[in-house]
Amino acid sequence: MNAISMNLVTLFYLVASVCFIQALKGLSSPSTARLGNAFGMAGMAIAVVTTIALMLKLQESLQQGGGLGFGLVLLGVIVGGAIGAFAAKKVEMTKMPELVAAMHSLIGLAAVCIAIAAVSEPWAFNITTRGAPLPFGNRLELFIGTFVGAVTFSGSVIAFGKLSGKYKFRLFQGAPVRFAGQHILNLLVALAIVALGLIFCFAHGLEPAWGAFIVMAALAFVLGVLIIIPIGGADMPVVVSMLNSYSGWAAAGIGFSLNNAMLIIAGSLVGSSGAILSYIMCKAMNRSFFNVLLGGFGGEAVVDAGGAKEQRPVKSGSAEDAAFILQNAESVIIVPGYGLAVARAQHTVKELVDKLTAHGVTVRYAIHPVAGRMPGHMNVLLAEAEVPYDQVAEMEDINGEFGQTDVVLILGANDVVNPAAKDPKSAIAGMPILEAYRAKSIIVNKRSMASGYAGLDNDLFYQPNTMMVFGDAKKVIEAMVKAVE
Ligand code: NDP
Repeated sequence: MNAISMNLVTLFYLVASVCFIQALKGLSSPSTARLGNAFGMAGMAIAVVTTIALMLKLQESLQQGGGLGFGLVLLGVIVGGAIGAFAAKKVEMTKMPELVAAMHSLIGLAAVCIAIAAVSEPWAFNITTRGAPLPFGNRLELFIGTFVGAVTFSGSVIAFGKLSGKYKFRLFQGAPVRFAGQHILNLLVALAIVALGLIFCFAHGLEPAWGAFIVMAALAFVLGVLIIIPIGGADMPVVVSMLNSYSGWAAAGIGFSLNNAMLIIAGSLVGSSGAILSYIMCKAMNRSFFNVLLGGFGGEAVVDAGGAKEQRPVKSGSAEDAAFILQNAESVIIVPGYGLAVARAQHTVKELVDKLTAHGVTVRYAIHPVAGRMPGHMNVLLAEAEVPYDQVAEMEDINGEFGQTDVVLILGANDVVNPAAKDPKSAIAGMPILEAYRAKSIIVNKRSMASGYAGLDNDLFYQPNTMMVFGDAKKVIEAMVKAVE
């Protein structure tokens, strides 16, 4: 087989990078998300094939038999691809964050494995010629790549355990694990990692300073666990997006060492988009990133959710009452929340909306940026039910319209419509909310008076123009569909 030229490799990597940029651009809007995904898949296919061709070229130039290496890579592509396809097909929408966490852990581990291979045989990666020592710059890149990769791996494993909530192991429990001197310990471990990393970088001689490198990597694995365990289960999506960002930077760091433009570009895209996403999520919850990392209200909420509530009178009604009000309204805004996702009621809501629209009611959906448990959760749910995009409005675009709306139907949402956010003394003070409280009538569906993720009572439920319809979202909406004539 003719070896691929380096110019062609660069060209294909450039094409793949452009595909990735287009993928991110496409994913920024529901109407172009499918195209964005197609770009992402095409880019990844080009990158994988080009990398295999490059690997064969390197083996040729090193005059090594390519058979075993190529076979292993192919096996990896087939096994990894099959597991990925199976997991993606099987995963439920509410379990998406834990799948993402599991994937990040693999990226982190891959970065560490590549770094170890590159430190032990740099000539096989075209970093040096055989027998030459690793230059300082490469050592520094490999140290940073290993450090970030190891933190990403172990942090993502803990995040996965916390999000899945299936394991009895204490560190995998949603409730935060806190102990005295935790932040000091984290600082000391981080300082030790930097010191060992510098020893590795500055060590002279042909043999790399393996001792320092291995202890540094082991401590980085420990640090990943230490920084994630104090975070409450419900804050994990922010942490997952932060780990996403880390995994990108780890890949970019390794890309510098391997002189691989593709890894540098793709890693930087993942790193920066993850960082921007973490920022957007924190802003939408009115919390600082630091506050999330140190463990904020998410931790308490896990313990608190479903706890005792204030004894104030509320007005409640049946699904049939709600259906009557809805079909006699001119305009309705639906606010979907986490409860809708849990009940998997998105298709039933679509059915209800179709019936109401047939009755001449104007219906729109209002989406809060952090409704649900991951960014874009509600958009994905509604897209799955094939809700037309023009019925879906973002918070900033629809907030001004609540005052002129006849009925707001809140389905399994709580914090994102809690007017307590306007109270400077509240735990969610300043969090931007959907201003449902301004509507002429409000119908709220949830199972009980239990609080949402932030663990706070919601004054909206006690307003004189609010009617609570208790029950599982799917069952309640099904009853509404039946009741609308
Ligand atoms: P909330 O958690 O505030 O409220 C959801 C409500 O759904 C609960 O009060 C619950 O009440 C109800 N519910 C649960 N199951 C069902 C069911 N089967 N049928 C009907 N109702 C149900 O969710 P929101 O979407 O309003 O707010 C999201 C929260 O998550 C915000 O605080 C946000 O900051 C946080 N968050 C979001 C992230 C994101 O990226 N999207 C990331 C991290 C945190 P009951 O038990 O009485 O039924």
